[in-house]
Amino acid sequence: MKATMISRHDCSARDLDDPLAPLRQQFDLPQGVIYLDGNSLGARPKAALARAQHVITAEWGTDLIRSWNTAGWFDLPKRLGDRLAPLLGAGAGEVVITDTTSVNLFKALAAALQMQASDPAHAARHIIVSERSNFPTDLYMAQGLAAWLDRGYQLRLVDSPEELAQAIAADCAVAMLTHVNYRTGYQHDMAVISSHCHAQGALALWDLAHSAGAVPLDLNGAGADLAVGCTYKYLNGGPGSPAFIWVPAEHQARFRQPLSGWWGHATPFAMDPGYTPADGIARALCGTQPIVSLALVECGLEIFAQTSMEAIRRKSLALTDLFIALVEQRCASHPLGLVTPREHARRGSQVSFTHPHGYAVMQALIARGVIGDYREPAIMRFGFTPLYTSFADVWDAVEILRDILDTLAYDIAAKRDAVT
Ligand SMILES: *Cc1c(COP(=O)(O)O)cnc(C)c1O
Repeated sequence: MKATMISRHDCSARDLDDPLAPLRQQFDLPQGVIYLDGNSLGARPKAALARAQHVITAEWGTDLIRSWNTAGWFDLPKRLGDRLAPLLGAGAGEVVITDTTSVNLFKALAAALQMQASDPAHAARHIIVSERSNFPTDLYMAQGLAAWLDRGYQLRLVDSPEELAQAIAADCAVAMLTHVNYRTGYQHDMAVISSHCHAQGALALWDLAHSAGAVPLDLNGAGADLAVGCTYKYLNGGPGSPAFIWVPAEHQARFRQPLSGWWGHATPFAMDPGYTPADGIARALCGTQPIVSLALVECGLEIFAQTSMEAIRRKSLALTDLFIALVEQRCASHPLGLVTPREHARRGSQVSFTHPHGYAVMQALIARGVIGDYREPAIMRFGFTPLYTSFADVWDAVEILRDILDTLAYDIAAKRDAVT
């Protein structure tokens, strides 16, 4: 069956019909840029500038140390965690925004291993299951923790999602998985894998770096055990904004993590020489938070509060379907390979294509204002953020890609920057 050819007019017509289109006005995006990298660093909410100015001048400059109480600085990780929770399918008092994803993963994995080790029925388990294609920091943190604990924990890495069920066996303590793969955009079925973990006596720890704000999530409904994720990607929190950690109410009493700093103490200002973890989610905290950066996370969350993850998902699938269809129609003569699943249920909010000169082509796209990014091996990655990407943007991005490919307007000797 021959697909009907799509025109730019069709794309503009869809923008007129798009209930999310007005939200683009709440972001500051430079003229002449089509930003398809919100999966790596979200765009700036306009409100962030005034918010930063307020935190710096009024809260820090004028109110000084009083702001820990009067401006709510001390409670900010929990208050923002509660604002984020509905996007994750988490309950109130189950999420804090704090530290980095790498650090939160370390805390969560350590706590999960400890929960298993302290239960005589599960203490012999020594396998941590993950995927070889997982984001490297996740694997590095697990390697570091396992070596540090020196109790015989080993990583068992699978090479495809189909191998997971077999790998998560009676010797598995924890499955540590990234819900949407950063490179391919493949989305796991969280409920199916979590329940398989439980049937095998393992715990399910999820990294939501490419899921939070990108796809609807139901952590409690899916029976996940612990989760972590970023706020600077789809949640638009700003460069290096603090990450989040989710500990469901049912696990909080057993959750013990090794970074037992004073912010996780039951009574931090009692200045007690002995550590007693706080009740509830505060025990996931460690030390003093970067308040300026943390405060800006709220600007992104305020935009999410104006819509729903279901509306975002509908548009996300429409944008990614359109991008795939247009690339296949308009760049058909070029050696582009779709890496991202076509099946909606298996797709996050990005589309990845391989090209033998992927790095050079991406540099040429960026030079012409279409900002995506590149990941080894040979993968051009395009992130679609329904809050500020239009259907006409998708058309224009593909036209620029087509022109670059048709005219060979890329430099195959392009030098690699430090961040690709
Ligand atoms: C982006 C990303 C991270 C980033 O971790 P940081 O500690 O913020 O550098 C971690 N895990 C995954 C799966 C990611 O996609």
